Amino acid sequence: MDVPGLRELQLWNAPEALDHTFADVAAVAADCRFGDCRHQTEPGCAVRQALGDRRLDAARWGSFQAAAGDRSSGALGGSEFPGRA
Ligand SMILES: [Zn+2]
Repeated sequence: MDVPGLRELQLWNAPEALDHTFADVAAVAADCRFGDCRHQTEPGCAVRQALGDRRLDAARWGSFQAAAGDRSSGALGGSEFPGRA
């Protein structure tokens, strides 16, 4: 069970690992008005503001979204990816 790509995928599917890897992004997102902000069209979104101010790198944000994208539709607490020993 040591497939690098798979391991990385599993890592990125774990919310806490995501927050660790993207600590800077998470820090910005913590300032959003809504705790469940999806950082798209929500008012008071700190991420969109940071992107606009170039405090947050758009490419890095893109990486974060790609990593977080699989955990769509608000299932943030879940860690139901299979095969983790
Ligand atoms: Zn937001």
